[in-house]
Amino acid sequence: MEELVFSKVDEYLKANQDLCQCERCRLDICAIVLNSFPPKYIVSDKGEAYSRLAALNSQFKVDLVTAIIQAANEVKKNPRHS
Ligand SMILES: [Zn+2]
Repeated sequence: MEELVFSKVDEYLKANQDLCQCERCRLDICAIVLNSFPPKYIVSDKGEAYSRLAALNSQFKVDLVTAIIQAANEVKKNPRHS
């Protein structure tokens, strides 16, 4: 799950060069996405298997992209550095 978020955030940053590309902002975006995501995607009895299954679900992908866009906007407005 976290790997998936990281790779998607990287893709999003590459596609949006107006966003700060630094490690600090990248990690902040990932953290916000992971925190904002419905826990059902992250924690389940079946753990890893469920996460992989969810990752294949198209609604999950849409939710993930939406969460990344929101997180990126937040970090853009309030970067934790000058
Ligand atoms: Zn930055």
